[in-house]
Amino acid sequence: MATNQVSHNLEEISTRIKALAKAFARKSQDIHLVAVSKVQPEEKIEAALAAGHRLYGENRVQEAQTRWAHRRASYPDLVLHLIGPLQTNKVPEAVALFDVIETLDREKLARALGKEMQKQSRVLPCFIQVNTGGEEQKAGIEPQNLPDFLTFCRVECGLEVAGLMCIPPADDPPALHFAFLKKLAAENGLAHLSMGMSADFEKAIPLGATYVRVGTGIFGERLQA
Ligand SMILES: *Cc1c(COP(=O)(O)O)cnc(C)c1O
Repeated sequence: MATNQVSHNLEEISTRIKALAKAFARKSQDIHLVAVSKVQPEEKIEAALAAGHRLYGENRVQEAQTRWAHRRASYPDLVLHLIGPLQTNKVPEAVALFDVIETLDREKLARALGKEMQKQSRVLPCFIQVNTGGEEQKAGIEPQNLPDFLTFCRVECGLEVAGLMCIPPADDPPALHFAFLKKLAAENGLAHLSMGMSADFEKAIPLGATYVRVGTGIFGERLQA
């Protein structure tokens, strides 16, 4: 895929987001496009930045550090979301680098994040990852434990929880999971929903997504997972 395809894709996806917002009586500025830049070559990142895009998602702390830390000075309006699993030993680096943590998924991590944010005097909004499919191998809070975990994060750890995030099981209709996540957010008074990827963001927007995470749809296929 040619580099100039990146700005074209960004424009096209933004247009689709606006059209869906209109069709479903939502404000398009309430729907944010997180460009998932993991494993993509530098020239495509540069193309997205040149096109004016400033919101990016990465799933590995180390890779994000290498890619983004030096760009902060040139792009002060850059916003970085961590969308992958976070190990507690990487929490200091993650808190220093990212603006939003989307993958808050266990008590030990919540404690570590709360402590580190206090230490660095940085407040990063967090999303609680919910294991909507009840998959054994997948990260995320079980839906029935969400109210208690939310209270734990806020009261015990002092975290600012902005919303919920999910990654639906590969073989389920994603809309079921998006609708479920929306219901959970409403029940728990949470405003934001991070859901929908390249293949299904158009299904997530009618169901209330405020953040969609799109990688290959913008940058093309990744060379490795
Ligand atoms: C990689 C990744 C995405 C982007 O997936 P695409 O299919 O490339 O759009 C979104 N969310 C998470 C959590 C990811 O790890």
